[in-house]
Amino acid sequence: MKDLPKHQGQRQQLVALLKEKGIVDEKVLDAVNKVPRHLYMDAALEAYAYVDKAYPIAADQTISQPYTVAFQTQLLALEKGDRVLEIGTGSGYQTAILLQLGVEVYTIERQNELFKKTKLLFSKLGLRPKKQIFGDGYKGHPDAAPYHAILVTAGAPELPKALLEQLAVGGRLVIPIGADEQQMCRYIRTSKTTFDKKTFGVFRFVPLLEDKN
Ligand code: SAH
Repeated sequence: MKDLPKHQGQRQQLVALLKEKGIVDEKVLDAVNKVPRHLYMDAALEAYAYVDKAYPIAADQTISQPYTVAFQTQLLALEKGDRVLEIGTGSGYQTAILLQLGVEVYTIERQNELFKKTKLLFSKLGLRPKKQIFGDGYKGHPDAAPYHAILVTAGAPELPKALLEQLAVGGRLVIPIGADEQQMCRYIRTSKTTFDKKTFGVFRFVPLLEDKN
């Protein structure tokens, strides 16, 4: 598991591309520059790790496109030390970007194969999310609520109400909503009972699925 000058050079090019595509948050760009995406992908796909595309991982899922990861992370407007809930651990790449930003991460994955594989990878890489959970993220993770930020990395057919309830006042929920394609939505909790919603264009994600059985 090496990070070679070749990879570092490819990452710098990726960062330049993300800037061209409109990512402006320097902290997010710096995180993309530092996290070795190739370590989160199949060895056979290493040559594509810094291409701005989604690629297959285990269990018929995908590692999100770098632009999408950067875009969603930028929308979260994170501050160091924030408590963040991520739904859809997948490859762990997005989790690593969050950790690089100095936040506390709770991350949930419903595919056991991916949950186990990524847990092993985190321990090899010395990455420490606060908690890695195997389960259904539709329900969020009330035990550690409220969160400063919640990020959903799969396409939700509808808004899971539990996630809004688990936001702190001032907290941000970033979630792609829709069936075949999704609108990127950000909800900000403006008071105990009020939310401000904005949309940020169309994306395509693998689906957020409810309980498996
Ligand atoms: N952040 C990940 C994205 C992986 S794709 C990465 O960049 O690698 C989305 C992930 O969400 C998949 O791993 C999928 O299994 C997971 N997922 C789908 N529905 C879920 C649910 N209800 N709870 C938790 N994870 C879910």
